[in-house]
Amino acid sequence: MPRFRAVVDRDRCVGVAMCVLAAPGAFAVNDEGQSEFQPGSWDRRDLIEAADSCPSSAITVFADDEKVS
Ligand code: SF4
Repeated sequence: MPRFRAVVDRDRCVGVAMCVLAAPGAFAVNDEGQSEFQPGSWDRRDLIEAADSCPSSAITVFADDEKVS
């Protein structure tokens, strides 16, 4: 079973927090107004939905080390 994770591009993130709505718990907006991925056992579909909902295309989803979205 691959481990799913996401990476947020800080140069692209504008803090709209759509990712937080799409995948509650998997992302949190920090004091600088940028989203940070929260490590955990997240469902692939939630992470991909978060990536798709990001208006800045700032989120990349990986399965282990393979980019999936
Ligand atoms: S939806 Fe995109 S731009 Fe908005 S906080 Fe999340 S990663 Fe940043």
